[in-house]
Amino acid sequence: MTPTPLKEGSAAVQARRVLVLNSGSSSVKYQLLDMNDRSRLAIGLVERIGEETSRLLHTPLTGGDAETRERTGRIADHAAALKAAAEELAADGLGLDSPELAAIGHRVVHGGLRFTRPTVITDEVLTEIERLVPVAPLHNPANITGIRTAQALRPDLPQVAVFDTAFHTTMPEYAARYAIDVETADAHRIRRYGFHGTSHAYVSRKAAELLGRTPEEVNVIVLHLGNGASASAVAAGRCVETSMGLTPLEGLVMGTRSGDIDPAVTFHLKRVAGMSTDEIDVLLNKKSGLLGLCGDNDMREIRRRIDEGDERAALAFDIYVHRLKKYIGAYSAVLGRVDAVVFTAGVGENSAPVREAAIAGLEELGLVVDAGLNAVRSGEPRLISPNYARVAVAVVPTDEELEIADQTFALVGRAESAGQEVPVGQVDN
Ligand code: ADP
Repeated sequence: MTPTPLKEGSAAVQARRVLVLNSGSSSVKYQLLDMNDRSRLAIGLVERIGEETSRLLHTPLTGGDAETRERTGRIADHAAALKAAAEELAADGLGLDSPELAAIGHRVVHGGLRFTRPTVITDEVLTEIERLVPVAPLHNPANITGIRTAQALRPDLPQVAVFDTAFHTTMPEYAARYAIDVETADAHRIRRYGFHGTSHAYVSRKAAELLGRTPEEVNVIVLHLGNGASASAVAAGRCVETSMGLTPLEGLVMGTRSGDIDPAVTFHLKRVAGMSTDEIDVLLNKKSGLLGLCGDNDMREIRRRIDEGDERAALAFDIYVHRLKKYIGAYSAVLGRVDAVVFTAGVGENSAPVREAAIAGLEELGLVVDAGLNAVRSGEPRLISPNYARVAVAVVPTDEELEIADQTFALVGRAESAGQEVPVGQVDN
């Protein structure tokens, strides 16, 4: 394994900007950050890549008014998308050819067991990410395309992979293993990996900060409730349990995913309903969860329907909240002592009714929500439990891009101070 050297005195050594790329199957989200003050210089999104209706939204944040520019019309592939984004950045004087750019940080969904930390991408690392495609068929191919495209654009620059699974690699074996035949499981790398790790890492650390403690001093339950949703139990800064498993399908009820079901439901769908494996996959990942239960996956719309007396929407909400409660209870037991339950992501940050309902009735666990505090809308980390509560309940907005930029920059920076060599890859654990 050859380390990628950062040349002494090269521009990269002085550079303090990081480009964060989150490449999905048909979209690329990007943010350019100035690591002097961790501020955003520009943010953007290219969506519907490959369709006639592709769209690029780009917002420079260096001037006074953050005015979004829009491009429409077909953007053929990821390479064209990144090129278009680079042109928009260049128009703001933030071109990717700038010597101020220190590195590109990529969100990579599946790092398996091998990648427990952010890792500088080499050919060998990329091959390993490719090897993980069978366990992340929807996500890793898009991430790989994003990496290759960025490498072509700036072959001289360190590219860093930050893995969604990495934070969960500290889970003890008894939490990570399914109770199935060990040889079959190992032959096919079947185990619980967990996802959203960048968010769980960031939010659990921020929650400790909010409590005025170090991450090592606290045990927290993080509820990342976006369109995808997952819970984690974090003991003294280390993840000990999380709700997503081999894939993001396990666990909580989500926007369009079922979360936990009896695995025999899948045999039943095949044998009795005559569905194919692919049809079952689509049913459970794309047509279930809130959408399957009531026809809507947006919590705002579901709440509006509940206010109008819609019973299907009310039942979907109750099922969603019931599952959350079960996980809060289970993770309280796993942790033994809980210092905070923390809500984050689209639903967790914005839906006071979900937070209220999920915590209702958990007084015996020390959990209470203050209705007044819960109703406050804010983009800041905040407590929503009353002073007297034994366990804090908090809302902490997640910021996966900032976490990726921090991890990327820390890795490149550490390498510089250790003699201009960026460490690559890691050994199997
Ligand atoms: P993703 O998982 O796609 O990153 P987000 O974390 O952005 O998703 O969450 C998106 C979800 O957040 C939406 O589907 C919607 O259910 C919910 N959401 C966003 N804003 C609000 C709001 N003001 N009130 C309730 N729910 C909201």
